[in-house]
Amino acid sequence: MKVLKFGGTSVASAKNIALVKDIVSQSDNLKNIVVVSAFGGITDLLLQAAHLASEQNEKYKSVLKDIEERHLNTIKQLIPVHGQSRILSKVKSDLNILETLLEGSYLIGEITTKLSDKIVSYGELLSSYIIFEFFKQEQMDVTYMDSRELIKTNDLNEKAVVNFEVTDALCKTFFESVQKSIVVAPGFISSSEMGNSTTLGRGGSDYTAAIFAAAMNADILEIWTDVSGMYTANPKLVKQAKALPHISYEEAMELSHFGAKVLYPPTIQPVLSKGISILIKNTFKPDDKGTLITQNKNGKGKTVRGISHVENIALLSLEGPGMVGIPGISKRFFEVLSQAGISVVLITQASSEHSICVGISAEDTDEAVNTVNAAFEYEIDRNRIKPVIAEGNLAIIALVGDNMKSHQGLSGKMFSTLGRNNVNIRAIAQGASERNVSAVIKKNDVKKALNALHEEFFEENIKQLNLFVMGVGNVGSKFLKQVQQQKKYLKENLKLNIRIIGISNSRTMVFDEDGIALKNWEGLLEKGEKADKNSFFDTVQKLNYRNSIFVDNTASDEVASTYDAYLGNSISVVTCNKIACSSNYENYQGLKNMAREYNAPFLFETNVGAGLPIIDTLKHLIASGDKVLKIQAVLSGSLNFVFNNFNDKIAFHDVVKQAQEEGYTEPDPKIDLSGIDVMRKILILARESGNRLEIDDIENKSFLPKESLETKSNEDFFASLKKYENDFQDLYTQANEADCKLKYVAQYEDGRASVGLQQIPKNHDFYNLQGSDNIVLFYTERYPNQPMIIKGAGAGAEVTASGIFADIIRIGNF
Ligand code: ADP
Ligand code: ASP
Ligand code: MG
Repeated sequence: MKVLKFGGTSVASAKNIALVKDIVSQSDNLKNIVVVSAFGGITDLLLQAAHLASEQNEKYKSVLKDIEERHLNTIKQLIPVHGQSRILSKVKSDLNILETLLEGSYLIGEITTKLSDKIVSYGELLSSYIIFEFFKQEQMDVTYMDSRELIKTNDLNEKAVVNFEVTDALCKTFFESVQKSIVVAPGFISSSEMGNSTTLGRGGSDYTAAIFAAAMNADILEIWTDVSGMYTANPKLVKQAKALPHISYEEAMELSHFGAKVLYPPTIQPVLSKGISILIKNTFKPDDKGTLITQNKNGKGKTVRGISHVENIALLSLEGPGMVGIPGISKRFFEVLSQAGISVVLITQASSEHSICVGISAEDTDEAVNTVNAAFEYEIDRNRIKPVIAEGNLAIIALVGDNMKSHQGLSGKMFSTLGRNNVNIRAIAQGASERNVSAVIKKNDVKKALNALHEEFFEENIKQLNLFVMGVGNVGSKFLKQVQQQKKYLKENLKLNIRIIGISNSRTMVFDEDGIALKNWEGLLEKGEKADKNSFFDTVQKLNYRNSIFVDNTASDEVASTYDAYLGNSISVVTCNKIACSSNYENYQGLKNMAREYNAPFLFETNVGAGLPIIDTLKHLIASGDKVLKIQAVLSGSLNFVFNNFNDKIAFHDVVKQAQEEGYTEPDPKIDLSGIDVMRKILILARESGNRLEIDDIENKSFLPKESLETKSNEDFFASLKKYENDFQDLYTQANEADCKLKYVAQYEDGRASVGLQQIPKNHDFYNLQGSDNIVLFYTERYPNQPMIIKGAGAGAEVTASGIFADIIRIGNF
């Protein structure tokens, strides 16, 4: 004998029911019990109608109408016209009874659990009857049985308890006498000894099927649903989740107990005791292998099998000095909860005995608080125990696996992964079986936590980085291009999956939770919503992705002022914008401290020398114990370009214009020519070498005349360059006569920094510097005479973009 159970989605429409028929027809077993759920969504609608009616809200009628239409339409689609009338009239008469029941509740203005159970039972009664008639119509060898006649429970309604002795006997007598090869029966519903309809709890059709399977010692119990088995995590929340081919009863029990809804937790017990296997299959992909659940015979397998979660959890904490060393407090605590019918999902007790903390279903919170406070009134009045504290909006997330007990470090890995992703842990519990480790976290963090843990335990190979890019001018657009080009390479070779989730320029912004298609980002951005740096941040925070990185490709101080918000939420920041690191020291140091505190890298390699690895090298020197004695550098690609091209045959004004046109200067060329840009860079290097310096501490020996420095527009600035052409020519001639070249040099030594134009003689490292190249000489304790030299292209969008890219890869390897 085989028992096949089809869930709500599997029977949600005529089309789906046709698939069910195919699956049942192909069964290789001589005897088959087919258990069906209510049509998908109907149980919820019935409960909603009951609730509305009990509140004397007439809207229950329109809900009832929807229920009616769903069923009548399905009949019309499944059964040919000539066979419809008998079935329609039976269903209509059932719907009339349902209407009367709802009306009753509406008139009295209340609902009992008994009535509510009676009302919801119609979901399964109708679906099973319609499916039975359809099978008959299709010439299948089928009969019908109302499960209420076989499954007997106590009279407790809602959380009814099955009387297995009576149930098993009734099942045996009935199923053994059946001559047909298929029996269709409703899931979820049962009846009490008094004959009232009862139910087996939400998701209870699985349980119905398991009860039949166990009573009849079936060969197998097949659970047909809308996913291809039990997954490593809920596939609706974790895209990378995979179906588990084979797990043990105990693992299935832990996973379902902790929220893997695909199997109703009580289902396992009856079949486990008979050693009957469960096979979870996908109605819509019947060729997928599914998950087989059996005894764990060989004890081998992966340590962590799955990650599941339960939402809507509240934590109750009982604490107080009167608890220490007094026996029986926990016993009383649990007793009152159990007497109130509140089940405890998770327990932790501090070894100091000072507090007990339990996780319960959020809906039980008020009742739990009242009963516990009433039970401990005596102690509370005498300040020995504090009134119980309840905290809501929580969820439990659990790692499950049979072999976790023989592995150290799993919980460490779990908690550090959560910590790294800024998921705050409110309570921790480890099952005594060591088959699960669970943590209570905020409900809002569930998706991020599941994905981060899944990545850590199941996708050790691939790490996803989620980027939010602000600024898509020269540098930003090159950067996006590079990401697009390298995406495949990075995934294959560095196991990094880089996704661009948000893009903004100063006008519009666009987000795509699945990653923006980079082929057409310009078009998407243009159609995006109005840009706003605060709502950009809000979205990044709300999306709450693991490994989120904010990338600033602007030169805006407003954008720089948002870094602390990102870092404070454990979102990494990568920036080529120099403003933050060259602002006052407190701010610079504050951001670095936040990065450390919130475990979110703050990287700005491109602030100095574009893509050249200057800051990273400096960091490594310092970290390994070296000390910087002196830095000498040419750090302005723009000024280098200008002085490499300037001579007595060309006007200074023209060279600067050309530099601007070719993109070697900031939009405002004065920022480069005045030396401010270089001051910022040497300031950052001095700070990264461990010195507390402010921008005003840097000496700037400007070569520009005062008048040029004081201009207010690019136009005036260029005009003044023309006016002082002779002064610039003098600078050139003097250098030329001394057989020197002009270079704009930044220097740092003994806590003092300066920038200015210098004549560089032939044998100097700076003499042959080409084009817009940068060069840095680090004189350190380990390199006292021959400095460490870093040299190469130090300006330009392409190299700057690649420097940003390098910072992102650094974070990926973090
Ligand atoms: P049915 O109506 O067939 O009984 P359910 O909705 O009760 O189906 O259960 C199937 C759903 O369980 C899936 O659609 C999926 O969203 C959810 N689910 C949660 N955790 C898991 C998991 N670990 N593996 C598979 N499905 C899961
Ligand atoms: N129809 C019931 C529910 O939605 C039982 C089930 O589908 O398993 O909870
Ligand atoms: Mg279910």
